[in-house]
Amino acid sequence: MERMSVDEILSHLDRMYPDAHCELNHANAYEMAIAVILSAQTTDASVNQVTPKLFEKYPTVESLANAELKDVEQCISRLGLYHNKARSIVNFAKGVVENYGGIVPDTMDDLLTLSGVGRKCANVILSECYGIPSLAVDTHVTRVSKRLGLVYQKDDVNTIERKLKRKIPKERWIKTHHQMIFFGRYLCHARSPKCGLCPFVSICHEKNKNL
Ligand code: SF4
Repeated sequence: MERMSVDEILSHLDRMYPDAHCELNHANAYEMAIAVILSAQTTDASVNQVTPKLFEKYPTVESLANAELKDVEQCISRLGLYHNKARSIVNFAKGVVENYGGIVPDTMDDLLTLSGVGRKCANVILSECYGIPSLAVDTHVTRVSKRLGLVYQKDDVNTIERKLKRKIPKERWIKTHHQMIFFGRYLCHARSPKCGLCPFVSICHEKNKNL
């Protein structure tokens, strides 16, 4: 297997996805946080289908904190796990109102105290809402990192986050996160990756055997 430096990998991603960005529609930190909590185990496109109605009905974190759970469930019932997700976002809103004065917090430690927020969500909120260098590890980043040999197959998400942050310059964390998601979402699919179009075939640990 050939070798490719991290710089070369990043250059390829720059060429392929110069405009990679967050695809969850949002207008402010409150909406971003809710959208990313809802995005667990579903696609951004599915979340974008339910959030317009949800944010129209609950335009502020205070309004969501005071919402009836069954009404919130109705708004997001197209999503899988909507009972749990409705409870998570209402409790998240309550936590923000009661403990942070209605402002979505901007530190990892504070975010992790809130309902529905794990490290992945917190990293997305920090980078998207506050521009704080962060690198969220989701299913795409995990798969792509392993295929490109940036991490080991056995590594868990916390280890992957730590290794990527060590290998990738801090000023590139946010951009690289989006580019890896675009690469995983549009080319390096889980089941049928488009390896014929991929610049990483020579270093890939899992390329399509039909090439
Ligand atoms: S060669 Fe195929 S599996 Fe490997 S990184 Fe490229 S698209 Fe993904």
